[in-house]
Amino acid sequence: MSVPAKKASRTQTRARRKTNMKIKFTKDNIENCPKCNKVKLQHRACSYCGYYK
Ligand SMILES: [Zn+2]
Repeated sequence: MSVPAKKASRTQTRARRKTNMKIKFTKDNIENCPKCNKVKLQHRACSYCGYYK
């Protein structure tokens, strides 16, 4: 296997990873927080009050 001639810059690395690291809000993965009733991602702690059942 060949080795990259130059180290990829921080910008290049982050640009490549950005696509997959991002959690998108879709109809299928959102729900309302039972504590403060704000919209939050399923299986994630509420970003507003930090509540997680
Ligand atoms: Zn909440």
